[in-house]
Amino acid sequence: MLAYTYIEKGKFALIEKPIPELQDPRDAIVRVTLGSICTSDLHIKHGSVPRAVPGITVGHEMVGIVEKTGTAVHNVKAGDRVTVNVETFCGDCFFCRHGFVNNCTDPNGGWALGCRIDGGQAEYVRVPYADQGLNRIPDNVSDEQALFVGDILATGFWASRISEINPEDTVLILGAGPTGICTLLCCRLKQPRRIIVCEKSPERLRFVHEHYPEVLTCQPENGKEFVLEHSEHGGADTVIEVAGSADSFRLAWECARPNAIVTVVALYDQAQELPLPEMYGKNLTFKTGGVDGCDCKEILHLIAEGKIDTTPLITQRFPLNRIEEAYQVFENRSLASRTSSKQANQGTTGNSLVMKIAIEPA
Ligand SMILES: [Zn+2]
Ligand SMILES: [Zn+2]
Repeated sequence: MLAYTYIEKGKFALIEKPIPELQDPRDAIVRVTLGSICTSDLHIKHGSVPRAVPGITVGHEMVGIVEKTGTAVHNVKAGDRVTVNVETFCGDCFFCRHGFVNNCTDPNGGWALGCRIDGGQAEYVRVPYADQGLNRIPDNVSDEQALFVGDILATGFWASRISEINPEDTVLILGAGPTGICTLLCCRLKQPRRIIVCEKSPERLRFVHEHYPEVLTCQPENGKEFVLEHSEHGGADTVIEVAGSADSFRLAWECARPNAIVTVVALYDQAQELPLPEMYGKNLTFKTGGVDGCDCKEILHLIAEGKIDTTPLITQRFPLNRIEEAYQVFENRSLASRTSSKQANQGTTGNSLVMKIAIEPA
């Protein structure tokens, strides 16, 4: 089968590999029917994920059809359409029992697929702890609708959950990339008084205006002033930082009202400064919210009920045999978003908005 593989730092290649086999009674083999590229894949490519193992197939966002299951798998069977969780977790340890599946203490626990073991930018993938890592997709939910459940949508859902949003709140979301949009969709379910999205890319802002017209938007340059103007108590009641750019952490706590919750979902390239003297008396609560994929079943229900729709995020599609091209498109956009918005505009032509790229079987 074709498998997009991490060869060495700076190099991925589409190579031929054998179809994976069951290795443990709790494994399942899934035929991938739709996958996607995540920014974390680029982090592996650029060598910023030290635990990533050269030779593994990359990819951790996918849906598919169960092909085979081990004898100890009970929740799914061959033929089931499933989402695959980015996280591998045992379901039994202290953290799993408390819903903190991201911190599963199993040696294979946490982000293993497409990082430490073969992932899903391939025709087939072996999923360990299949009873935990796979969720059946309801019949009225398409592969496209379910594609992001196991990773970025789980991230947005977790972020909005731990942010303790109340109906009277002004919620500020920094960053309108794919994870920012997933966070926005999940925050909307809490029906806060208003949501403000702060994003520097004009194309992404246009995307927000087009799909979520009730959401207020601003750019980082005037972010603080805008939030002060549009909130009742000197800042946002809840801030969710999904941008991860050089100044976004500072902007996050500066835009928060006293006693607000600031949830940090973003993954930074650099250490961030927490200037306690400057924020003394503001009494902020900081939470860090890297994905905890414990709510996939509930998310699938919400999609089935029409309450969450991430399909507009799929802006491009490529077959697996052209995944190299897909990466180029995705990577150019990702680099552009880290420079100025002006450069971002120059770096792309035509329909320049690249949110998520769906990878179809070749
Ligand atoms: Zn990811
Ligand atoms: Zn566990």
